[in-house]
Amino acid sequence: MLVNLNDVLYPAKKNHYAVGLFNAVNLELARGIIAAAECTRSPVIMGTAEVLLPYGPLEEVSYYLIPMAKKANVPVVVHLDHGLRRETCLKALELGFSSIMYDCSTDSYEENVRKVKEMADIAHSYGATIEGELGHVGDNEGSAEGSSQLSDPSKFFTDPKMARDYVEKTGVDALAIAVGNAHGAYKLPPKLDFERIRTIARTVDVPLVLHGGSGLTDNDFKQAIQEGISKVNIFTDINVAAVEAEFKKFSDMNKGIIDLIPAAVEAVKQETEKKMKLFSSDGKGGVGDIALARTGLDKELLTRLVAEEVKKYLGK
Ligand SMILES: [Zn+2]
Repeated sequence: MLVNLNDVLYPAKKNHYAVGLFNAVNLELARGIIAAAECTRSPVIMGTAEVLLPYGPLEEVSYYLIPMAKKANVPVVVHLDHGLRRETCLKALELGFSSIMYDCSTDSYEENVRKVKEMADIAHSYGATIEGELGHVGDNEGSAEGSSQLSDPSKFFTDPKMARDYVEKTGVDALAIAVGNAHGAYKLPPKLDFERIRTIARTVDVPLVLHGGSGLTDNDFKQAIQEGISKVNIFTDINVAAVEAEFKKFSDMNKGIIDLIPAAVEAVKQETEKKMKLFSSDGKGGVGDIALARTGLDKELLTRLVAEEVKKYLGK
């Protein structure tokens, strides 16, 4: 079932779990991610990022991601991560992506607001959702996502009051924040500013996003989610898991690439499932949950009302 960010992130925010974004730049990654979501009954966000387009052009990626999302028996968001150019975002919307991120975090605050507000209006006219970034999430050395290495990342941490102003002015549906996280593999253990996550979560209404999730400890994730993170981006971990599995299989390969494909799919599935369980999104992918999120009804209240009606009907 193809859905947008609001469908999966509002239930997550309310019930203190997070939904993972896993980038799927080829078919093996996409198949592993969908299999993990269906096996754990988890909602999922999958997609690609502008810097990953050399490995799979947007149009080609859309040819499998969108039909796979529609066919899945759990909610799937097809998301463009870190759209850097206006044209790329527009193309993703045109191709049927249900969500985009327009990253103007390196522009001035005013430019970031102006550009993202314009794109938010366009995305919403497609029924799609949009994520913005305030503060700037840098990159670890060798990151697939980019090469912006910050000498003092804390200078780029997200300011809570500014975040509220940003969300109000742009109309974004989700906000990526910089709190000590970075893209790619960490050289030194990262130190997340949990206090800041908590303050931002109390200050803004929209779900918060943590980029650069690969390499954080299980406890980092759990605490970040507890403090108010509703979406976590993962790429490095599944990217590496796929190739490690292929490498192992390579020694007893006899038919060629068709020996490696199932090994990669299985490794991506295992790694993705691990993350879904860690984020507690497993078991949250019922279609009923989405229907409830769309109507804004409270699940417990609705269950109680139905139970009362059933009791009346049965004359008890
Ligand atoms: Zn990112």
